[in-house]
Amino acid sequence: MERAADGLGCDDVLGLLTDYLEAALPAGRRRLVADHLGACPACWERLAQLIATIAALGCLRDDVMPAPVLAALRASFRTGPSS
Ligand SMILES: [Zn+2]
Repeated sequence: MERAADGLGCDDVLGLLTDYLEAALPAGRRRLVADHLGACPACWERLAQLIATIAALGCLRDDVMPAPVLAALRASFRTGPSS
């Protein structure tokens, strides 16, 4: 478990993933989660699994995730975690 100096630990991020996907987090906290996901392959893998699960259940609608989140996800999928 690594904890960024200015951010969230893995436990924090994993607990916030659902809210993150539902865009239920305040912008500042969402940014911290996004920053952590970009730097932590383990949490990113959990996010990818969560997205796959939601998509498989047919619950992932366009209106659930706001455009900025989708754009960030696409960018992350394109580049992968910066490990
Ligand atoms: Zn992590």
